[in-house]
Amino acid sequence: MSRTHNSEPLTPVAMTTIVTTDLIGVTRGRSFPTDELEHYQAAGCGWVPANSALTPQDIIASSNPWGAYGDLRLIPDLASRVTVSNGPDASAPALDFIHGDICETDGRPWAACPRTLLRNEVQRYHDELGLQITSAFEHEFNLTTDSAQAEHLAFSLEAQRQGAAFGGWLLSALRAGGAEPEMFLPEYGKHQYEITCRPTQGVAAADRAVNVREITREIARQMGLNLSFAPKTSEHAVCNGVHLHLSLHDLSGHPVLYDAGTANGLSTLGQHWAAGVLRYLPALCALTAPTPISYERLQPHHWSASYACLGQRNREASLRICPTMSLGGKSEAAQYNLEFRAMDATASPHLAMAAVLIAGRLGIEQRLALNAITDEVPDSLNEEQRQRRGIVALPASLTQALSHLRSSEALLEALPRALLDTYFAVKIEELALTQHLSPAELCEHYARLY
Ligand code: GLU
Ligand code: MG
Repeated sequence: MSRTHNSEPLTPVAMTTIVTTDLIGVTRGRSFPTDELEHYQAAGCGWVPANSALTPQDIIASSNPWGAYGDLRLIPDLASRVTVSNGPDASAPALDFIHGDICETDGRPWAACPRTLLRNEVQRYHDELGLQITSAFEHEFNLTTDSAQAEHLAFSLEAQRQGAAFGGWLLSALRAGGAEPEMFLPEYGKHQYEITCRPTQGVAAADRAVNVREITREIARQMGLNLSFAPKTSEHAVCNGVHLHLSLHDLSGHPVLYDAGTANGLSTLGQHWAAGVLRYLPALCALTAPTPISYERLQPHHWSASYACLGQRNREASLRICPTMSLGGKSEAAQYNLEFRAMDATASPHLAMAAVLIAGRLGIEQRLALNAITDEVPDSLNEEQRQRRGIVALPASLTQALSHLRSSEALLEALPRALLDTYFAVKIEELALTQHLSPAELCEHYARLY
């Protein structure tokens, strides 16, 4: 047998990863040589059902419905591909991934796939309500180095300068990855920043939230910085939220949330939608604020959310009517959007967005009346004033949120059984794994995980 000797130096093979962002908001996947993409297009790569039962602690929930059985495929959605190369570390391989949908081996959708759930819900808005969804996720995070760093003042130019090298690379990478970045800004907290991107349509908005997280992590990794999107990273830290901005359009692209004739600009359809979100909010929290640490954030005076209410320009309201500007010549209807604030980065963007949409749709279908409105800090109202408007407190813990979800027949019916069974198994295991941690230890633990 003759051997040919190749004297060419080896170069690393470029890899592309097919990913799924799972029920706990962790992006996972498998990689193949990029030049073999064609081979993976139709049938994707293998996937394992019990992967969906992983807790953030990296332990598979013991009572999950899948066990050691079954095989799935992760099918790439080629339009969702993200490629970012030539970042701050010139030797780092390109970040190249494609979002996938989890399917059975014969191509039927898998019931516990969060991206499929969101796609089905977006389709339902289209088919049954004649509506399209435009949305954007805003992300706050902490950025630190291992060495001591000066603590600059909130929103200051100094804080901006401390993050400027990172911010410049981040904006460039987000542009390259098609995420349409808007602003990089220093936030209220120490070493806290925020990144915002333009809204986009349907499932692509949740994909974009994943892209923002992964691209932000990639730039931090390449620059040797510590990054965390966790809701609270230390006991006295200002919290990191994820705010979901959302607007609805009819099928010809006309915005339908706005009506100039109402006091706060919210159309009748918008009122039903908001009433649905607020009605189901205590149960939704189990999916949008889904870890024990989330409840360190969902507290009064955190500018996050602690009561189920709508407010206009009120950052203590869980659902906020965002400001529109008469400056700049853009129509108010086109700017008008609602911001869902009871969310953080321990949630799966696809699952959380689907859940919010389901609640809003139920509000429209049931023609729910919107009473839970306040432009005051809801905490400052007395119990009687809150009761009169139907403003209820949000759950104080993940355990409470899960029990709201368990008793919400409408949400349980709208979510696939297999997904719910997996989700409850994961969350119960996660609670058991973290129950011994003090609030300070919880902060530190989740800061490392997210
Ligand atoms: N950091 C706040 C939160 O946890 C949000 C502050 C803001 O309004 O940007 O949601
Ligand atoms: Mg902010």
